[in-house]
Amino acid sequence: TKKESRNGYRFFSSTMQIQSARNLQLVNALRQAITLEQLAVFYQPQIDLQTQEVIGVEALLRWTHPELGPISPAEFIPLAESSGLIMSIGGWVLEQAVQQIQCWHAEGFENMRVAVNLSSIQFRNPELPVLVAKVLEKHALSPAFLELELTEGVALEDPVGAMTMMDALDQLGVRLSIDDFGTGYSSLSYLKKFKVYKLKIDQSFVRDISTDEEDKAIVIAIIHLARSLGLKTIAEGVETPSQQDFLQSHGCDEMQGYLLSRPLSSVDATVFLRSRYPE
Ligand code: C2E
Ligand code: CA
Ligand code: CA
Ligand code: CA
Repeated sequence: TKKESRNGYRFFSSTMQIQSARNLQLVNALRQAITLEQLAVFYQPQIDLQTQEVIGVEALLRWTHPELGPISPAEFIPLAESSGLIMSIGGWVLEQAVQQIQCWHAEGFENMRVAVNLSSIQFRNPELPVLVAKVLEKHALSPAFLELELTEGVALEDPVGAMTMMDALDQLGVRLSIDDFGTGYSSLSYLKKFKVYKLKIDQSFVRDISTDEEDKAIVIAIIHLARSLGLKTIAEGVETPSQQDFLQSHGCDEMQGYLLSRPLSSVDATVFLRSRYPE
């Protein structure tokens, strides 16, 4: 009726219905996305800011739905998490990434590393260390070439459990980095206690680094904090030469971003590597 539509409630509830109908459709489609070969792992190159050498890649998941087209991971990863599908999808990404690195090593790109994003749900699974060990063993990859990216939140919810998990992964020899560093609300003390190897400076701080005094100060502080704790730093979302110059001159170790390359398919990433290292 008129009355209902005027107070906005009907509109609100119908957008929620549309929203959840799409989510339902996506979750159902996601269930079969692996077997239907709609998922692909893309790779974004990372360089050492001192030597300019490509030292690794970040694995980023891509999903192309046959009717809806490309769906952003920002939309489907949360759905994979709430539906439980993240366990199988995350395991698939890990295996693809490890296999790809093994391939590149075989081709002569011997020091290439891969960083894989880990959902907090995967991180809380006690089976995770065994799973990771199995994948590394299957593809005969040394654990030192695998980095797992976690967000600050994982340590916040369950500090004791997080510490146990980080110890187990550290024992395996894989490296842990804190993604989106500086955007969470965690206490810095966990950096001392936890087996963290690298801090990933969030792109929200990098974006205005050339103009914004506060962002400059924050980035410099993160680099100094990391260095005094013996941790490495990588900046993400680097899009301009002046951002790179700033990071380089302040001692940031590594960077990734559109300036160097967008995330690339396996084939295109191989072409990229070959062009950087011609025989
Ligand atoms: P993230 O881990 O922080 O990944 C960085 C995001 O920034 C990626 O978006 C990447 O494509 C984008 N990016 C890279 N360079 C630039 C740049 O220079 N400028 C700008 N503006 N953006 C840049 P993407 O691929 O859409 O992924 C979004 C988020 O989805 C990721 O954020 C990550 O949290 C999640 N995600 C992606 N793949 C996976 C996965 O395999 N597993 C899990 N658990 N999460 C994933
Ligand atoms: Ca990441
Ligand atoms: Ca990030
Ligand atoms: Ca981010």
